Amino acid sequence: MANSHTSKADLRSLVRTLEPQLIAWRRDLHQHPESSFTEYRTASLIAQHLQTLGYAVTMGAQAQRGQARLWVPDAQHSTAARQWALAQGANPALVQRMGNGLTGLWADLVCPNDNYDGTDCCEEYPLVALRFDMDALELPEAASQTHRPAREAFASCRAGLMHACGHDGHVAVGLGLASLLAQLRPLLRGTVRLIFQPAEEGGIGAHPMELAGALHGVDYLIGMHLGIQAEHTGDVVCGTDCFLATTTFEITFTGSPAHAGMAPQEGKNALLAATTAVQNIHAITRHGDGVSRINIGQLRSGDAPNIIPPQAWLCGETRGISTAINDFMMGEVERMAHAAAQMWGCECSIRRIGECPSAASSTKLTDRVQSIAKSMGLFRNIRHTAHFWASEDFTWLMNAVQKTGGQAVFLQVGAKRSAGHHTSYFDFDEQALCPALELLARVTLSTLNAQGIV
Ligand SMILES: [Zn+2]
Repeated sequence: MANSHTSKADLRSLVRTLEPQLIAWRRDLHQHPESSFTEYRTASLIAQHLQTLGYAVTMGAQAQRGQARLWVPDAQHSTAARQWALAQGANPALVQRMGNGLTGLWADLVCPNDNYDGTDCCEEYPLVALRFDMDALELPEAASQTHRPAREAFASCRAGLMHACGHDGHVAVGLGLASLLAQLRPLLRGTVRLIFQPAEEGGIGAHPMELAGALHGVDYLIGMHLGIQAEHTGDVVCGTDCFLATTTFEITFTGSPAHAGMAPQEGKNALLAATTAVQNIHAITRHGDGVSRINIGQLRSGDAPNIIPPQAWLCGETRGISTAINDFMMGEVERMAHAAAQMWGCECSIRRIGECPSAASSTKLTDRVQSIAKSMGLFRNIRHTAHFWASEDFTWLMNAVQKTGGQAVFLQVGAKRSAGHHTSYFDFDEQALCPALELLARVTLSTLNAQGIV
């Protein structure tokens, strides 16, 4: 048990004793993946663990603004996912509290000098929040014996669903951190909040949690990803900037059907409206203030060669180095789509199905992560900051904390991978779990001024 003389070596040995449990959690989660807003079993496991450790858990409708979700699975899909989770051991009372996809939760561990009253705590001490994402991807996992999860019998038990981004590892580290900090509670001078977020993929889970108050009063915010730009075990990227603001959208064009031989003049061709829009959207004049991206990745239309197609649907995304540039791109997408629809006598409707702002890690907090990473002696390759050039909905949370004068950082802990993120052969080196946990623990404890540890 920790006391005020807990040393650097002691903390490492506490982390090491958790390693078998970290790997067991990771493999259990890997085997039981859940997609965006259906993380019932995962969230139930987390809530139970945290409650047992003495954390105050906020979940369900209190932990996210349900109506602010840009996308939700349909009722049938949600019901089936809940039933699956219950059959796989999820706690029925906890699942009940998650309603229809309200799977995000946060849990507070207050310092022993404070009484938790459910709203605010430790006025004179900082509140440090750490965010872990929980969702898997709709992707079939490789069954080949060359793929370690298949060979060692912890591959996904669900067809078409897979943890192919490492979020199973993130949750395992979050659970380990919860255990570790509960053991060190007598040393804490402030509050730790562990945020477990659903639906990171697609950029739709963070904002509803922010709107429900997940960042209220947070002074320091830490997010972590395994791998990505920290490619080898032993690498660490202490802070990340150049997160691109992004919007994912779908556009439906509606025209009128007609016989292509007898009465083509009576038709309004939605396929042509959609393809006109695609060509012109890709030709949007770029903004002079910084980089932007555009992609139409899906297009569906038509039933037969002799029918003027009355419907077309497309899906795409814009990105920008600033939120303003992304807004400019999206404004142009809307203008082009309406103009293309009008040109072909069709109607169009545009729906935003995912969105996140741009962000950058706070320099001072990145400096702190770097000096702690250096002092640990576990990392061979330490980078201060990497430019992300991609998007993460953690940026909603970073912006919320930075806007109120707090500091936020997104760090990347190196993990050797068997294949790229978001592919069927993705797996990562579990030797990365302990260094990730130790780094997060040391940054948290140093921020909370826990004497005698860091
Ligand atoms: Zn990810």
